Amino acid sequence: MTSSTPIVRFAPSPTGKLHVGNVRTALMNVLFARGQDGKFVLRIDDTDLERSTKAFEDGLKTDLKWLGLDWDDTFNQSARFSQYEAAAGKLREAGLLYACFETPEELDKQRKLRRAQGQAPIYNRAALGLSDDDRAALESQGRKPHWRFKLSGESASWTDLVRGDQSIDTGSISDPILIRDDGSFLYTLPSVVDDIDAKITHVIRGEDHVTNSGAQIEIFEALGGPVPQFAHTPLLVGADGKSLSKRLGSLSMDQLRDQGLEPTALLSLLGKIGTSDPVEAKPSLDILIDEFSFDKIGRAPARFDEAELALVNARYLHDLPYKSAKPRLAEMGADHGEAFWTLVRANIEKFRDVAGWAKTLYAPMQGQIDDEDVEFCKEAADCLPEKITDETWGIWTSELKSKTGRKGRGLFMPLRKALTGRQNGPAMDEILLLLGHKASAARLRGEKG
Ligand code: GLU
Repeated sequence: MTSSTPIVRFAPSPTGKLHVGNVRTALMNVLFARGQDGKFVLRIDDTDLERSTKAFEDGLKTDLKWLGLDWDDTFNQSARFSQYEAAAGKLREAGLLYACFETPEELDKQRKLRRAQGQAPIYNRAALGLSDDDRAALESQGRKPHWRFKLSGESASWTDLVRGDQSIDTGSISDPILIRDDGSFLYTLPSVVDDIDAKITHVIRGEDHVTNSGAQIEIFEALGGPVPQFAHTPLLVGADGKSLSKRLGSLSMDQLRDQGLEPTALLSLLGKIGTSDPVEAKPSLDILIDEFSFDKIGRAPARFDEAELALVNARYLHDLPYKSAKPRLAEMGADHGEAFWTLVRANIEKFRDVAGWAKTLYAPMQGQIDDEDVEFCKEAADCLPEKITDETWGIWTSELKSKTGRKGRGLFMPLRKALTGRQNGPAMDEILLLLGHKASAARLRGEKG
């Protein structure tokens, strides 16, 4: 790594499960960093000690590893309160962090009043007018201050790697509260302190943070840290274009994992929706890394469609080489060799579906024979050659065709159902080859074979 290589971070709060929305943000960070030989830092935003849990933290780490989004370094914000205190002290000294005493009810009243007067409902900065004596008097009444950062009121500008030139008029937003009246830190200041200390070069996150970035740029400057570059990606919406927020619970990684979805398929989809590239099943993260560019990310929300995910998942499996499938097949007790995998992979939607095909082809089973096909299947068993080769299916079915006068579906479907117990599946010539004479003949006679 050289000094110009990027250092990025993904900063989830361990207050819930990792879902497709935050995985997409993590992925964008990984794709960018890995493509530039950079470093990917996992920052655990657990300043909210009440809502953050170790179980959620462990869960999100398990999920990121399952996805193959490994980090180079990780730390918890809860271990860094003294650094945040020091930064707050620096801001106070510079006159940029001021004590406020309004209660939530008072603030609410103020906002309503401003709206009624046609003004933007932002904080009126009344606390800036308090004298030392006023403050002392309020504190002696038992009031505890919360602390706001004094924005410049000018515009904070940056060239966003996704959105292009951006400018936030900090006069149009409230001075952000950095410290609550119980002394706890909100997200805004710790994030900047950490980005400076971890030498973060690029902040890649959802566009719901664009306004925050305006305020945070001023905090970066006030603390003397370099301002990183920003990339704000459009949010995810459902296939119907509506917000996913209510459905995110069912789109958490543990749920998707339980449904048998492949991590690489999920990354293929999340890495491409909302970009100018087509959505395709990529065989590995490396390809997504090679193809990544901020320029490809559009401004419109990215549509996350579960039906598309299912398709990408199936396509990923259809191309999965035997050598990648082998250990998983072995674990399931379904490693029947390369020919078996190559035959069935195009007929499964989830990897676990392979177990059903292993049973169909390798465990004694009775096929499905409709009453009107019993005689036909017996006849088929009688003329099935002992030695089955690549050519047997073609020769055997033409013989049956001329003997019985059956053709098309009427000829083939009873054979498929008798031999596999299913109405669709892989090519029958290969199934016949794998089943062999004994099992095939038994099944055609309605016996277990
Ligand atoms: N914990 C913040 C969030 O999840 C991090 C935002 C950021 O990347 O700065 O929204």
